[in-house]
Amino acid sequence: MSYKLPDEKDLEAMIGIVGKKYASNNKAITASYLSKSVMGLEAQIPDIVVRPKYTEEIRKILIYCSAEKIAVSPVSAGLSGGFACPTIKPSGVMLDLSRMDRIIEIDTENRYAIVEPGVTNGGLWAYMHKNYPDWAPPIADGAPPAATVMGDAIDRGFSLYTSSVGPQGDNFMCAEVVFPNGDVIRTGSWALPTAKPFYKYGIGPDMWSFLMGSQGALGVFTKVAVKIYPHPKFKTVVAWGMSNPYDMQDLTLEIGKQEFGIAHNTVMVQGGNYPLVMTRWPKDKVPHDYEFYKGIGVSPWWMNWECWAQTQEELDYVVKRINSMAEDFKKNRAKDGEGMKPWELHPKQIASRMKKPNKIAVPYSFWEAGFLFITWYVPWNECAHFAEMYNKAMEKYGFPPVMWIASIERCRQAICMPIVCFDSTDEKSVEKVQMMNQETTEYGLKQGWFNYRPDPYIHIQAYYQSGMYWKYLRAFKKLLDPNGILHPGRLALP
Ligand SMILES: Cc1cc2nc3c(=O)[nH]c(=O)nc-3n(C[C@H](O)[C@H](O)[C@H](O)COP(=O)(O)OP(=O)(O)OC[C@H]3O[C@@H](n4cnc5c(N)ncnc54)[C@H](O)[C@@H]3O)c2cc1C
Repeated sequence: MSYKLPDEKDLEAMIGIVGKKYASNNKAITASYLSKSVMGLEAQIPDIVVRPKYTEEIRKILIYCSAEKIAVSPVSAGLSGGFACPTIKPSGVMLDLSRMDRIIEIDTENRYAIVEPGVTNGGLWAYMHKNYPDWAPPIADGAPPAATVMGDAIDRGFSLYTSSVGPQGDNFMCAEVVFPNGDVIRTGSWALPTAKPFYKYGIGPDMWSFLMGSQGALGVFTKVAVKIYPHPKFKTVVAWGMSNPYDMQDLTLEIGKQEFGIAHNTVMVQGGNYPLVMTRWPKDKVPHDYEFYKGIGVSPWWMNWECWAQTQEELDYVVKRINSMAEDFKKNRAKDGEGMKPWELHPKQIASRMKKPNKIAVPYSFWEAGFLFITWYVPWNECAHFAEMYNKAMEKYGFPPVMWIASIERCRQAICMPIVCFDSTDEKSVEKVQMMNQETTEYGLKQGWFNYRPDPYIHIQAYYQSGMYWKYLRAFKKLLDPNGILHPGRLALP
């Protein structure tokens, strides 16, 4: 595929659609998008940035760019680890949707919110806190407040109650989408002009699920209805420490399987190892050996269960059950019962863990400036194997072995996130990250593990291995985007 490098005439066309203030090829502006794309090792600087406000403007932009064969990469906040930036040259138009930031409706009976792409985690959380304090929207648990609810859905991320209700994609009901030919469709029950977005499945096969995970390569989402859930006042965090990832995995799975019971009260279940604590500070300012962390009460591995309940009585029951299951596991089934102990968290630690949205992941840039989340989905009972394999690889390449693991849908899946802390000013360090990513990808795919947000260059192997699926993905792409203008290169699609 070849694309047109947009020229002054194309910029004029964009200005004609959105107005002079909202389209620019000024290098200082276009380059600022690259600097925002933390973790985007292969991201490119867009040629033009366009900032529409209305669906109609997006329609016109897509029709124009399709006809001219100019690449278009949509971005809601651009904080998805660099993957909202263009991946090819010429990079074409970056469609910055941050001006589309209306919270259109909150329906507490049918339990959904309708939002535009520019509605941020922080914005929606603050709005609900002020106007609907008894309801919690599905914002990403650890993503920056400036990241958006919509971007997280298209990425199929995970929410603040993901262990109880499933992956972020499951929280999304209906959407309005603009295809590159200018057609605007609504999915699910919303396909019927008289219907509310109350049901994800509408007329025949469900197109929304097909568009989930499309990461800007199939259409531009302009509105979405997301589920909201009650936000009860009775909350706490229970934590247990372990000496090894297998005890963490197995105890957590036992609790996750308590469905129709306490498993549904454990909204966010996440853990990891002690380097997760260590790498939140500058490398030269903290001790690196485990003995120091042991001294401050950090176990080599641990798991946190964030619990929400409707009454204090219910919450007390949940906490008691988790602790009694952990005691029983420690006595009877643990690999190393001696190494297991409850982790008494300070009320300030509990409060900071429960603060939403939080900036919990941001300090990893302190260690050595660069950080990269390389996130995988694996069956829960394989997460300890994943952690062992990945930590070895990180040590082999000279990176601290930082591992974070969380449960999705009551331990049906594990989201495993090695956090690679590296020196982004040193080319060799960047090369090492890519070599390790390549090596672990080859191993991971053989195990049947998946990437959450595939790197277009390294994780392309997954598409090659799933040849028949990829054939149909390409056919669908051709149907919706015959000129291949939407986010070329993303998802290994032209
Ligand atoms: C420090 C840090 C912590 C994070 N923690 C979490 C976490 O706890 N949970 C989690 O799930 N994620 C997390 N993430 C990942 C990321 O922040 C989320 O996925 C986020 O919500 C993405 O939103 P965004 O608006 O930045 O998306 P963007 O980067 O703008 O877009 C995401 C993808 O979707 C496409 N896209 C965006 N908007 C549209 C649209 N309207 N139509 C079509 N395509 C579109 C883009 O092209 C891109 O491929 C974290 C990221 C960082 C940097």
